[in-house]
Amino acid sequence: MRDQHFTGEPRSDEQELLAKGKSRPRDSARSGQRQGRRARPSANGRVPGAKDDAGTAARHPRDATRAPAADGPPDLMASARNADRLEALRRTALLDTPAEVSYDRLTQLGCKLLATPAALVTLVDADRLFLKSACGLEELEESVRGGRELPLRGSFCAHTVALGEPLVVADAREHPWFRGDESWHTSPFVTYLGVPLILANGHAIGCFGALDVQPRQWTDDEVHLARDLAATTVTLIELRTAAEEARLHTEGAEQERARLLQHEHDARALAEAATSRFEALQAVSDTALSHLALDDLLRELVARVRSIMSVDNVAILLLDAEGRELRVRTALGLEEEVAAGVHIPYGKGVAGHIAASRQPVIIDDLSQVEVYNPFLKEKLVSLLGVPLVVEDRVIGVIHVSAAAPRHFTQQEQELLQLVADRTAIAIDHSTLYEAERVARQRLAFLAEAGMTLVSSLDYAAILDHLARLTVPGLGDWCAIDVVQDAGNVERLAVAHVDPVKVEQVMELSRRHPVDPQSQHPLAAVLRSHRPLLVSEITHGDLATTTLSEEELDAVQVLGLCSFMIVPLVTRDRVLGAITLATTSESGRRYRDEDVALVEELARRAALAVENAQLYHGTQAALRSVEEIAERLAQQAAQLDTIIEAIPDGVYVCDAEGMRSRVNAPGAALLGLTIEQALQPIAAYWDLIRPRNLDGTPIPVEDFPLSQALRGIIRTDIRFIVCHHISGDDVHLLASCAPIRNAAGVITGAVAVCSDISELQRLERQKDEFLSVASHELKTPLTSLKILTQLAHRQLQRTGIGGLEHMDRMEHSIIRMERLVNDLLDVSRIESGRLALRLEPLDLVSLCRHVAAEQMAASEREIALELPREPTIVRADADRIDQVLANLLSNALKYSPQERPVTLTVRIEAANVVMAIRDEGSGIPQEALPHLFERFYRVPGVQVQSGSGVGLGLGLYITRELVERHGGQIRAESTPGFGTIFSVTLPLADAQPSPLA
Ligand code: ADP
Repeated sequence: MRDQHFTGEPRSDEQELLAKGKSRPRDSARSGQRQGRRARPSANGRVPGAKDDAGTAARHPRDATRAPAADGPPDLMASARNADRLEALRRTALLDTPAEVSYDRLTQLGCKLLATPAALVTLVDADRLFLKSACGLEELEESVRGGRELPLRGSFCAHTVALGEPLVVADAREHPWFRGDESWHTSPFVTYLGVPLILANGHAIGCFGALDVQPRQWTDDEVHLARDLAATTVTLIELRTAAEEARLHTEGAEQERARLLQHEHDARALAEAATSRFEALQAVSDTALSHLALDDLLRELVARVRSIMSVDNVAILLLDAEGRELRVRTALGLEEEVAAGVHIPYGKGVAGHIAASRQPVIIDDLSQVEVYNPFLKEKLVSLLGVPLVVEDRVIGVIHVSAAAPRHFTQQEQELLQLVADRTAIAIDHSTLYEAERVARQRLAFLAEAGMTLVSSLDYAAILDHLARLTVPGLGDWCAIDVVQDAGNVERLAVAHVDPVKVEQVMELSRRHPVDPQSQHPLAAVLRSHRPLLVSEITHGDLATTTLSEEELDAVQVLGLCSFMIVPLVTRDRVLGAITLATTSESGRRYRDEDVALVEELARRAALAVENAQLYHGTQAALRSVEEIAERLAQQAAQLDTIIEAIPDGVYVCDAEGMRSRVNAPGAALLGLTIEQALQPIAAYWDLIRPRNLDGTPIPVEDFPLSQALRGIIRTDIRFIVCHHISGDDVHLLASCAPIRNAAGVITGAVAVCSDISELQRLERQKDEFLSVASHELKTPLTSLKILTQLAHRQLQRTGIGGLEHMDRMEHSIIRMERLVNDLLDVSRIESGRLALRLEPLDLVSLCRHVAAEQMAASEREIALELPREPTIVRADADRIDQVLANLLSNALKYSPQERPVTLTVRIEAANVVMAIRDEGSGIPQEALPHLFERFYRVPGVQVQSGSGVGLGLGLYITRELVERHGGQIRAESTPGFGTIFSVTLPLADAQPSPLA
């Protein structure tokens, strides 16, 4: 590569040619115009407006990022020889191609648009510049015609490609890369604008360039135009390249097709040659392949073999499944008539020997050998037989024979063996196909049967379907027997090919029901859950059977020859059994695979039956659930009515305490609406402010429903609430109880409240009256008593009679005083004014003292059973005196004069127990719970000795007094035998502070 440009070596051709072109720039007139339009270069060649000394060489402002002074010239050779770039160039297939109009048009367009005398499309090869098109350089082009090559060194284009971006040279004579080269000083072209041609793969393969004769400042628009022209050139190149590649590809495909055609042609010729060689064999194979049904196949095969081998007789014998005997499956010729009955044991006779030895046999004279089938000897003379073998399995024998003496040749034997090999494969395929066909048929049958069976939910209909499904496909006769709930067996469905016989079979089974415990085959199947198969009913079978005579007759009349009984089993339960039989008419004999099929069918039928039973069970359960639901709804409605009709408030809650029901009176008692009353109690707690009778607030957990949810039953809860609307206090009496489910678990609670405000008011009035009356009575009575005693003493002193009257008066006054005292005590108790004076008290001496008083007053004996030692309690002596006097006077009063009354005192643990026993009429059991209520008197109990019926207050006061001492009182009584009242008080040592 020469580089005259910079080295002063001989000038490059390009420069040379460019120098020549100087004398005749194309369209010099236009050039003059251009110069007129554009800034003319100055005398020193500089472009006006250039910024610096090197300004004439400055690149276009858009390329100013690369400072030309700092950058040296690019490495032209390295860029030109880049292997990838060269490969990209080679793929365009443009190098060394003649000029083309489309490229020339582009360069002409370039000259016009850029107003230059010359434009080029160049390709930069490894060591040369190839001019694909050069407009305005006709002379040059002519001089290099044929090669159109230029050296790389010093060329603008090579620089542009190496640069990889547009190169703008305003004046080569001033440009740092080119000015050292003298040749530019003589070249007609001194200015250049070039844009590299960069393909889609990124490689610059050449450039689009424009040249001018005068130094020139290229404008932005011109650079743009040059870029567009370069882009158009690239598009042209790439389109051409793609078109060229497509053409090459098509050519390759054509060649490949021709090659394949040739192959096919060769292969066909080979195949045809082979086909013609084995024509006979092909006939056999065709036959083998064209028939998948075994019988058709064998018939065709023997016919072909007979004609190919020209023999009188052909027979194909197949080995049975157990491999024990050969049976003639197909024969053609003399043996044809006897074929059906020929069964030859494996290893025996000619065919048996061929099968066992797997060797072909040629027999010239059959009379000389041992045969199993005598027919062979009688009618035939010569025989050739070969084994039928598939994959090392002998499946049968094929033999051909002649009625006249004949010697079968080795070639004939080989041909027959070839035929046999193909035949064996075909038979094997056909057998498999047959088995598959049967299996498919069976599957289809089972699928259809399954659909039919599940299409009904009627138990009897399912069985009927089942019986019908089996006849005549699976048998001539079918019966279905079902085990009933009672354990007996009933025949529910029968089907027969002859519909007339259906009723006959039914009738027979009605007359001879099967005993499930008997030896009857059906009973045995039902017990074992396993199927029974009798392939062939023999006379021996009938002789040893357990069937009745009539049944045996029926078997004969029906002409049964084979049967099976298959149980209908679901999980572990046997529902019944299906009996299938064939008659001598069809002559069909059942085999294991038939049983397997019926078992499958039975399984589906059993499922369908179970399904139906479940469905009916579910329906029944649903009906009873509906009935229960209806009854419950009725009961709920009744309960609603009852609850609403109850005049008291009724409140019901669930286990969590949420109100589930409140009746109208229940809401009205509290002054709430039902909706409000159904809210959780906390929502209206502050509205009703529940309080105890003494005014203390009731904690939520002590509210009736809360207590009931803890399992507590109460009947006497009294409390006060504030009526939400009126604001008045309402006194309520409540009872409550838990609601339990069948298992005893608490699932809710109920409370009933009644308004006792009016009652309370009356009781208060009565108490007030009692208090006032007893106080008012007490004062005159006391005066009366004192005056009577004074009068009594004066009468005694004066000795005037009438003392007994005074005694009676005094007695009456004492009784009256006691009554008034009782009333006063009640009033004190009710108003909480009863006070006790507690001090150590010896109960033993108190008992002695009180008993003595009672004895004196009543003039009766009281038996005492007392401890010797003093028994100390902390008590109010007067009040315990009152308790004892009350109980002893009752015992005396309510028992006959002559019966004893006993007072016993004993220590029990930390307590002392005083028991007062009488032998009076006793108290009925139902009265005992009310005994200690105010004003209660046991109906029918009469005073038996002494005088005066009380007010029914004594026991009430007694209990109050005992309980306020921290003790307890209880009564036991047996009507007719007497009563025991027991008072328990804590001993002084153990006594906690009593309720004073
Ligand atoms: P009273 O003052 O009427 O006797 P109490 O409160 O003492 O009142 O007794 C209440 C009722 O209990 C009596 O009216 C009587 O019917 C019955 N009663 C009390 N003690 C006995 C007893 N020992 N035997 C039979 N009945 C009795």
